Amino acid sequence: MRCPTCKKAEMLEAREEYPYVESGIPDVTLKNIIVRRCTACGEVMPKIPKISQLRSLMRLPGKGPIQITFSIEGNCWIRRGGFSGSKITSASTAEVEKYADIASEFMLRIFDMTPDQYAISDESILSDMVGRSEEPDTVAKIEAEYGFTPSTGTLLGIFREIQDRR
Ligand SMILES: [Zn+2]
Repeated sequence: MRCPTCKKAEMLEAREEYPYVESGIPDVTLKNIIVRRCTACGEVMPKIPKISQLRSLMRLPGKGPIQITFSIEGNCWIRRGGFSGSKITSASTAEVEKYADIASEFMLRIFDMTPDQYAISDESILSDMVGRSEEPDTVAKIEAEYGFTPSTGTLLGIFREIQDRR
């Protein structure tokens, strides 16, 4: 696209890191988003993905700078200080919201997290929450807490299995 400010040059697009000052929250960096730059006047126009949960995720516990890394598919990962690994996504939450009670109990029992500390979608998987290396430990904890071995790695699938057992 032609630069809307100077109208002298086409803007170049690249995926890069962008300090998200528009968020109004200090030290938020968006990683791997498309940023357009004008080669003539230097105008910078980021394409900031729409994230409905962004505001609540900014209230995550922990201290220090926040980094949100986007994938090309539109998912993103948030990291902040000592807390990391929560995947946020533009994917639907319609199904997982049907299991809200099970979800909040599960997240508290397994991860010691309250609803303001996580965001899950219909596509969230266990290793989003803990990282792959810790996944076996988390499965063991689910076995201990709920008395069965989940047959799926998706949180939605696990919530359904918990429901089915009640
Ligand atoms: Zn320009």
